[in-house]
Amino acid sequence: TLAIRRLNMSYGHLEVLKGVDLVIPQGSVTCIIGPSGSGKSTLLRCLNRLVEPKGGDILLDGKSILTMKPEALRRRVGMVFQHFNLFPDHTALDNVMLSLRKIKGMPRGEARRIGEARLADVGLLGRKDHRPSGLSGGQQQRVAIARALAMDPEVILFDEVTSALDPELVKGVLDLIADLGRQGMTMAVVTHEMGFARRVADQVVFMDEGRIVEVGSPADIFDAPKSDRLRRFLAEVL
Ligand code: ATP
Ligand code: MG
Repeated sequence: TLAIRRLNMSYGHLEVLKGVDLVIPQGSVTCIIGPSGSGKSTLLRCLNRLVEPKGGDILLDGKSILTMKPEALRRRVGMVFQHFNLFPDHTALDNVMLSLRKIKGMPRGEARRIGEARLADVGLLGRKDHRPSGLSGGQQQRVAIARALAMDPEVILFDEVTSALDPELVKGVLDLIADLGRQGMTMAVVTHEMGFARRVADQVVFMDEGRIVEVGSPADIFDAPKSDRLRRFLAEVL
């Protein structure tokens, strides 16, 4: 379980998160929606210490992540990005093995065994020796997901992981994330895919201007929005 308490974050003078409170329960899927610039990516980055909050706290199973070593935290909280961030000169398998070797210090044989197993999980074992340039966008994103899974994290953060994909490749990646959710993986998913959020989320969070405006079940958020801001947002995106 991740518990976010009164979280504040600014870039210079620009306040981007203004007192965010949110609980992401273990074994649940939280989808985060909201307009561009509302602070969704910044919130995820705080959860992985890619940026340091200015105030408030984030507890992982009751313990503040702000006092952990970032490397120790990133073994427990994985992240997948919009632009995959794979190493272009490494094969799919090497991309998955790299953090096992470097961050976990795992012997090569064991890293290979786990890397192949996770590539098999995302349906790409047959492509393990291809470099990213020899894979479709959807396949590259599934390699990035396999890489996050290989670390055996307690939580995975997804930041608009289908936004850079051709439309016909989106479904395969969303289905894979939905499967992980069914298997009980704890996930925070920033997405523009409202159909996905409605189907897969246990809770949906609507952010605007650095604040959580509404949080609730998909039915609460999509069928019974309480605020004008959420109603206007849904009118634009649905
Ligand atoms: P989008 O849907 O477009 O991805 P978002 O909700 O993820 O938007 P953030 O990326 O968290 O929004 O950005 C929140 C605010 O912080 C925006 O005003 C943005 O311009 C600003 N911002 C983001 N990253 C930086 C940065 N590295 N330096 C300065 N300002 C930043
Ligand atoms: Mg973003």
